[in-house]
Amino acid sequence: VESFRGRRVAVFGLGGSGLATAEALIAGGADVVAWDDGEAARAVAAKRGIPVEHLEGIGWASLAALVLAPGVPLTHPKPHWTVALAAEHGVKVIGDIELFAIERRAVCPSAPFVAITGTNGKSTTTALIVHLLRHAGRDVEIGGNIGPAVLGLKPLQPGRHYVIECSSFQIDLAPSLDPTVGIHLNLSEDHLDRHGTMANYAAIKERLVAAAETAVVGVDDSLSAAIADRIEQRGGRVVRVSNRRPLAAGVYFDHGHLVEASTGSATVVGDLGGIGSLRGAHNGQNAAAAVAAVRALGVDVRTIMAGLRTFPGLAHRMEQVGRLNHVLFVNDSKATNADSTAQALASFERIYWIAGGKPKSGGITTLERFFPKVAKAYLVGAATEEFAATLEGEVPFERSGTIATALEDATRDAQADDAAEPVVLLSPACASYDQFKNFEVRGDHFRDLVRAIPGVAPVGP
Ligand code: ADP
Repeated sequence: VESFRGRRVAVFGLGGSGLATAEALIAGGADVVAWDDGEAARAVAAKRGIPVEHLEGIGWASLAALVLAPGVPLTHPKPHWTVALAAEHGVKVIGDIELFAIERRAVCPSAPFVAITGTNGKSTTTALIVHLLRHAGRDVEIGGNIGPAVLGLKPLQPGRHYVIECSSFQIDLAPSLDPTVGIHLNLSEDHLDRHGTMANYAAIKERLVAAAETAVVGVDDSLSAAIADRIEQRGGRVVRVSNRRPLAAGVYFDHGHLVEASTGSATVVGDLGGIGSLRGAHNGQNAAAAVAAVRALGVDVRTIMAGLRTFPGLAHRMEQVGRLNHVLFVNDSKATNADSTAQALASFERIYWIAGGKPKSGGITTLERFFPKVAKAYLVGAATEEFAATLEGEVPFERSGTIATALEDATRDAQADDAAEPVVLLSPACASYDQFKNFEVRGDHFRDLVRAIPGVAPVGP
């Protein structure tokens, strides 16, 4: 990052993105001072040659910027002490994505920049865009909320595409975000602890698309539809996407078909039902947004059609991990709440459901409408008794204790089922912390167990 050469910049928070930020600033000739409240993080930074010093007494008046790690509170419940000091001295507070946007404008505005946000579906949409662009032969870097920190990616270069997933925390810290294509998928209540009100949360998301050359906006919820209308009224270029209804101009999902009509004339680009990694109604919105984005970047419809068919999907999100005879095994470990599990249960007809873990408030009571499709449930972890009480009299279940036992029992029962495609589904509707480090470790464990079952064949994209 050359844009801060010779200027003083403070970096707070030395996780992956903070380290990459400090190093990029130093490499570009900035005078960096960094801090983290954790001693271990400070030690790592010091070892890498980053100047570490407590930020309280550093002479705030001389700072060009404070770069914050995402997740450090700006306002709620109260501003972090560094944010309060910055406000007092009129120092701007930014994040690494803002640094990237500043740098791109200054040195390489012709590098296409795609930024993605929304309450749900960000990672899937980001991964699909990257897949479609690579399939079209483009040079692509992926990062932000989903992967490596944006300042740790390969250097800016004309024609190199940057596909960056942005959480609302990151948008909050990127006041001049101006992507080539900005994507906002949807809004539902989440993270209100930091952003206060729904209106405030929506306003943050809107900023990602407001200054984009092309704004791709999901219009299936009313707050997001209003964002699209406002951008258009100001003269911005908007491509609407919908998972529910045909649009006069836009990309939409209709009767199983994905239809590209962003410039008016409609072409069917695919039948997602046949693409395992994009199964589930919610993925219609993600796929429509990805198609709109790569169309805006000039990829032709034929290339998109072929690319969609080979999308491998993301691990732990409705990931098809194997087949044994007619039985399909699906890892949906990322489903850590009932809303997320609802998407999975909606996607299959005959389900052997492995659920449980560390329960969230509300449990699985909202999933009752799917119970008729559940042949049997296998309960694991701390949620067992709570879930048993909900299922009692509605769905047969076993108290399996662990995922290994649950898988063994579910495999036996599903094999004996003569339905067309019984599915053994891990979709816990719970956090993993009672038995695992995180949802990734839980999903990897499940996938390993499935692949170790004699006779299981892997499932390709
Ligand atoms: P994010 O990165 O925003 O957390 P992911 O792509 O990782 O989203 O998907 C996480 C979960 O969110 C999925 O397993 C699914 O249950 C749900 N989901 C994905 N896409 C959507 C969507 N467009 N609308 C509603 N829910 C979705």
